[in-house]
Amino acid sequence: MSAFLIHLADLTATGEKAYEFPITREWLAEALEDTEYGAPEEGTGSLEVTGREMGADVLADGRIQATLRVPCARCNEDIDWPVDLHFTQLFVPRGSYQEQHVEEEVELTPEDLERETYVGDEIALDALVRENLILEVPMTPRCPDGCADPQISAYLDKPDVKKPGPLAGLLDLKDKLGEKN
Ligand SMILES: [Zn+2]
Repeated sequence: MSAFLIHLADLTATGEKAYEFPITREWLAEALEDTEYGAPEEGTGSLEVTGREMGADVLADGRIQATLRVPCARCNEDIDWPVDLHFTQLFVPRGSYQEQHVEEEVELTPEDLERETYVGDEIALDALVRENLILEVPMTPRCPDGCADPQISAYLDKPDVKKPGPLAGLLDLKDKLGEKN
């Protein structure tokens, strides 16, 4: 079941239509099921998107606002990670000349890579929203105000050797133990 659909029939009158969809916690939980991210404890995000007819193609551009629950890369505590991004995506009919043409091209331009295909009379944006949300989280998200346990952060951050911190002795010991093994 798609939560976010552009109906081609909506576009025929004026050539475009603006939609606004809620991004619910339930949708996030399901979409992020196979990732280490999850839905926040509360709150609903939003997807604002405008679909524009361009011949047989449809250009979707919009804004995604949502909060993800992600583990801090330093202390592993779950933190709320707000995401707010804009996207532009061109959809071409599957099996169309445009699509085949892209496949034949040896070198793809960035514009080509942004093409997706659609079938039938509606375009589901669920996969696009999911991908954009996941890509927006950095590789190593960290507690924005510092980790709750400063000792853990100091230890995991491995303070610069030239400026020994309070745990420098411990780190030295750990290094020495490591050499023996
Ligand atoms: Zn943390």
